[in-house]
Amino acid sequence: MAPDKGFARDHAIVVGSGHAGLLAARVLSEHFNTVTVVERDRVDPDTTFRAGVPQGYHPHFLLAKGAQIIGELFPGLLEEIADAGSPFYDYGENIRLKFPAGWTPKTTTGIQIQGFSRPFLEQRIRRRLLELPNVTLADGFTVDRPLFDGSSGAVTGVIGRDADGEEECLYADAVVVATGRGSRLDHWLRGADLPMPTVKSIDVKVSYTSRIYQAPPDDGWKVTFAYVYAPDVRRGGGVLELESGTAMALAMGIGEEGCPPDEAEFARFAKSLPFSGMANYIDGHEPLSELHRFVDHGDWWLQVHRMRRWPEGLLVAGDALCRFNPIYAQGLTVAALHAKALAATLDNGGDAREYHRRAAKVTLTPWLMASSSDLLWDSGRSPGILARLSHWHLDRVITRIPGDPDLFNRFAHVQHMLSGAGTLATPGVLWRLAARPRPAVQLRV
Ligand SMILES: Cc1cc2nc3c(=O)[nH]c(=O)nc-3n(C[C@H](O)[C@H](O)[C@H](O)COP(=O)(O)OP(=O)(O)OC[C@H]3O[C@@H](n4cnc5c(N)ncnc54)[C@H](O)[C@@H]3O)c2cc1C
Repeated sequence: MAPDKGFARDHAIVVGSGHAGLLAARVLSEHFNTVTVVERDRVDPDTTFRAGVPQGYHPHFLLAKGAQIIGELFPGLLEEIADAGSPFYDYGENIRLKFPAGWTPKTTTGIQIQGFSRPFLEQRIRRRLLELPNVTLADGFTVDRPLFDGSSGAVTGVIGRDADGEEECLYADAVVVATGRGSRLDHWLRGADLPMPTVKSIDVKVSYTSRIYQAPPDDGWKVTFAYVYAPDVRRGGGVLELESGTAMALAMGIGEEGCPPDEAEFARFAKSLPFSGMANYIDGHEPLSELHRFVDHGDWWLQVHRMRRWPEGLLVAGDALCRFNPIYAQGLTVAALHAKALAATLDNGGDAREYHRRAAKVTLTPWLMASSSDLLWDSGRSPGILARLSHWHLDRVITRIPGDPDLFNRFAHVQHMLSGAGTLATPGVLWRLAARPRPAVQLRV
């Protein structure tokens, strides 16, 4: 493959076989002679839940934009997933979300989505990726740090340990760090005497307590969910359909409002929600799994794109670059956008700095969407005028959604990253937002 201005294109390494790593490897496979995905966990074609991705025990809702990119990278994969037990359905016809002002209206949005667990999606993507002749997976291999060229400073590979603890160097022209939330990139950079990029962060304690059940929701909806909402609604939860007629129940809390992984507490939490659907569901169905808890700390973005000096060939993607409060369900889609940014960079013969600039550009809108609400929860920070204004606008939208299917449709397109935020700020919409909200026709729950 033709060498370009950035780095040679013989061998690329991806560290981490999570969602971002798999998608990055797919992109690299078109530009490098060989690609090695290095993964700490032992992984075989059937692996689903695993230690390296503990968030896999919790609901992972894939936004339509993320699904669209996955479909482009792996043609036919979403249809294959549908055949394997996760049929497509319309977002507005099959999902109902409870906001403080009421339920989202039942309406056709044209947004086709699917329900599955995170490990199921990852397994299907991994299988398709490993069918490519120039991609291999080195599992059971823990990367300890990248290697750098002494004179140019460019990355030259990684050093790590295999499953028997044997140290080994793997050489490459480019290394994508896709090590997720537990990324040790800061440590790796310090160890190589390289400056650490600055970090933007918003501290919000979010906890998820989840359990998988044997039966799909039986109330006619694929997802029924009461949302947390800044700054006052700190408890949420509901039931989401997954693959093959299973479902997941989730108790979500902000700050100290979370639910311990205890059966009685889970039932009590469900009863405390402003609808009876989750309590009825968990009362009437057999669990397939234990209760799992995950505590997260909001939004975090490594500003690699602002670095004047950065090792050539060292690329950071997915949660290792930017992670979001999971309640907005953006992480899988942003990782897919990072893969697109990588593809555009490689098509352009670009370098690591170009990639990080492109990745920052696609990260910005989701970051603003998450941070404008999360700043209202971050007790240590006072939200700036931009965050206040954008939350004020969101408040108006959310308040009117129950009685305005067109507004919900627009909101859904923005939420799924299919339209820009301007869709919710056209003159016609602003006029409606200024008017008194129409009363919603509320369904009995
Ligand atoms: C509770 C929770 C719920 C979420 N819900 C949603 C949702 O509904 N929708 C959504 O879009 N996103 C959601 N997310 C975000 C989503 O999980 C992440 O954005 C996504 O997993 C990012 O993928 P990644 O590949 O960057 O990281 P990961 O998927 O975490 O993968 C990192 C991989 O790197 C490997 N690794 C780490 N260190 C090393 C090393 N040194 N050597 C070798 N391998 C290594 C790990 O074993 C792992 O396989 C949620 C997150 C959480 C915490």
